[in-house]
Amino acid sequence: MPNLMLTNYCNYRCSYCFGKDIMFPKNPRQTMTRECFDGIVEWVKKGPSDRIFHLMGGEPTLHPDIEWMVARLLEEEMQITIFSNLATPGAVKLAQKVANLPVDWVVNVNDPANWNDVQRKNITAALEALGCRASLTFNIMPDEDDNMWALEYTKRYHLNNNIKVGFLLPTYKQTNEALNDEQYTVVAAKVTRLAQEAAKFNVHLDYECGIPTCAFTDEQLGILWRCGSKLHSGCQSRLDITPEGEVIYCLPLATLGMKHYSQFETYNDACIWFEERFRPYRMLGRRIECATCNLHNSLSCNAGCLAKNLIDCKNIKL
Ligand code: SF4
Ligand code: SF4
Repeated sequence: MPNLMLTNYCNYRCSYCFGKDIMFPKNPRQTMTRECFDGIVEWVKKGPSDRIFHLMGGEPTLHPDIEWMVARLLEEEMQITIFSNLATPGAVKLAQKVANLPVDWVVNVNDPANWNDVQRKNITAALEALGCRASLTFNIMPDEDDNMWALEYTKRYHLNNNIKVGFLLPTYKQTNEALNDEQYTVVAAKVTRLAQEAAKFNVHLDYECGIPTCAFTDEQLGILWRCGSKLHSGCQSRLDITPEGEVIYCLPLATLGMKHYSQFETYNDACIWFEERFRPYRMLGRRIECATCNLHNSLSCNAGCLAKNLIDCKNIKL
């Protein structure tokens, strides 16, 4: 099931945002219409489905019709997850309204030390309303403190005890701030420390896509295993659909190819189309060692982020 981008604009301007290539202000503002939303719901229902919809942006709570969209998916008995920064007035209103309904929230947060007063008021009010319906997700920055605030917030607001962490990944066009190769090991050490602390709070780490296993030492992998935050990360995405109904593999690869959803019979056909086109490029791997690495398979490690691995490849045609 897809990730629907309800908007391509956001109330934040994060330097690391990997949506930059198709987001406002680099591109005109886009807001998904009710017709487009309805068309996608019906299209998804045609194929074999896991009945899960992810609503994201940009920032989805800036969409004027998000309440209607959530109600529409609930009518269809779809499982809904909203990916939001919770810093908008709309997020607070929606969180309070749907807190007792089967709607999960993944909250993209930056370090609270960087929130302004309005952001703090909105985020904390929404977290208060959502409790265990919300889980935190954030990027581990190589030059910031060790993110212990995430454990405090999880405990204080009784949030879901899985926290998802990510490495800063580049877009294919390198328009955002991303980790350089040396910083992977710095971030891996921070992740390991956070996982150890988290275990003391009965909190476990999950991982965003694109983290190569070899960023961690064997010892660090063992620590993660023992504290219940075993690394599992691949380069495999639910497909994203832009506010205008264009299917992309993921935001960092958006500029390599997109196709309107109506050009595919089903969502599964769209998945197969993208996987087949990217398959030859996956052979490249992240570095020369991937060619002989025992972990190089779709279950253990598919060589980190494809967008990063393709940066030096020009004239790619899907
Ligand atoms: S290329 Fe793969 S790892 Fe990178 S963002 Fe896209 S799905 Fe995730
Ligand atoms: S497949 Fe490549 S990126 Fe993954 S662990 Fe092996 S060498 Fe590292």
